Amino acid sequence: MFEFLLTKEEKELQEEVRRFVREEVPSSLIRAMDADQVKYPKEYMKSLSARNLLGLRFSKEWGGRGMKWTGEVAAIEEIGVLGSGMSCLYSLVSICGEAIHHFGTPEQKGKYLKPTLEGKLCCAEALTEPRGGSDFFGATTFARKDGEDYILNGQKRFVVGAEGADYFLLYAKTASEAEPHRSISCFIVERDDSVEVKHVYGLLGSRGGGTGRLYFHDTRVPAKNLIGPLHGGVLVFNRMMIPERLTTAAGALGMARCCLEIATRYTDRRKAFGETIRKFEAVSFKVADSIAKLDAARSLVYVTAKHVDEGFDSRRMVSEAKKTSTEMLWEVVNHSMQVMGGIGYTSIYPIERFFRDARLQMIWTGTNEIMNLLIQHEFYKETLNKQSGVRDVESDAMDLEGEEEKVYE
Ligand SMILES: Cc1cc2nc3c(=O)[nH]c(=O)nc-3n(C[C@H](O)[C@H](O)[C@H](O)COP(=O)(O)OP(=O)(O)OC[C@H]3O[C@@H](n4cnc5c(N)ncnc54)[C@H](O)[C@@H]3O)c2cc1C
Repeated sequence: MFEFLLTKEEKELQEEVRRFVREEVPSSLIRAMDADQVKYPKEYMKSLSARNLLGLRFSKEWGGRGMKWTGEVAAIEEIGVLGSGMSCLYSLVSICGEAIHHFGTPEQKGKYLKPTLEGKLCCAEALTEPRGGSDFFGATTFARKDGEDYILNGQKRFVVGAEGADYFLLYAKTASEAEPHRSISCFIVERDDSVEVKHVYGLLGSRGGGTGRLYFHDTRVPAKNLIGPLHGGVLVFNRMMIPERLTTAAGALGMARCCLEIATRYTDRRKAFGETIRKFEAVSFKVADSIAKLDAARSLVYVTAKHVDEGFDSRRMVSEAKKTSTEMLWEVVNHSMQVMGGIGYTSIYPIERFFRDARLQMIWTGTNEIMNLLIQHEFYKETLNKQSGVRDVESDAMDLEGEEEKVYE
């Protein structure tokens, strides 16, 4: 239904990813990841790269396809049906790759981006610290200059790929006295013996990606691994937040869609009181609410993709897409489970796994409260600064004499 928004090349990509998801990812891997038997599915990443499906937006020179966000969003919606663990690992290439592709030197792109897209290296992003993720600029991990290197000390937590990634896109404080927004730098940090993975969390869902806590003990990072300007990590961070949030939003569409499809098929067959249960409005209206919300979220995600592709400042749109799509997913998973009754709560159907995956989407890549913070901030700024040329509707109030009653303090 939304295919008309895609170019011919993007439609072909969508078909290609559907085929990949259908034929090349064994259910046994999904089950093993959910059972925490897999620390990092390297074979999955390799098979994606063998199909040239990683880093679609990046230029062909570095192994990408030079496509736009609309194409990538369509691809991630398809990957989303594999669940949050696989969707996240797929998206990490887009997120870390964005920083290297946009800010990296040709040498950095050749050494890290290209082999990542070729499936030879795996990447992870290390932003969150034990002391807090929302307050990103309060980071305390410190990188001290030492000759041609930086010496890194500190901790990061909840890092997907802590167990399996070859390198980390990491933010550290480089200026101890400067204000937070001018004191953080972004580095590519290769895993070596000084990087300790201490603890793998027991996660409710989104398992199998090797999520863990990282300790850096005097880790030596060559100064040439600095991404973007020294103390200018804010620029890299702001840029990375676009793929960070848009990939989460797009993955949520795929998860919601497949839950709804399972529920639709089930309620068309299951009988109660001599009727198929879809005849009960209590059931079919939940399906109606779900599909309307899914289509609304998808519309917003695709419009946001276009907005980014056109080069606009997309901070508000990207935050809205992330919040709307992940809250839609939570509602759709719950409706899907509800209309399936008890069996929906069991592992006979995968809805319970999507339910566990879905809960995370409102927390990671910036919580939805942080999305609200950004959305209102941008909207106040836009509205209060606007010379919009639109009608002054306040002057249409019934009481023409009421100006003096507009008391604000
Ligand atoms: C499974 C999993 C995987 C993850 N993967 C990664 C990863 O690969 N790399 C990475 O760097 N991070 C990762 N994260 C971290 C994730 O992004 C953070 O957990 C998230 O940003 C929230 O940070 P926090 O957990 O420190 O919560 P806190 O920042 O402590 O927030 C706690 C609560 O306070 C609220 N809050 C905080 N500040 C404000 C405010 N100003 N206004 C309103 N509400 C506020 C939050 O919304 C939240 O509800 C992952 C997390 C999980 C659980």
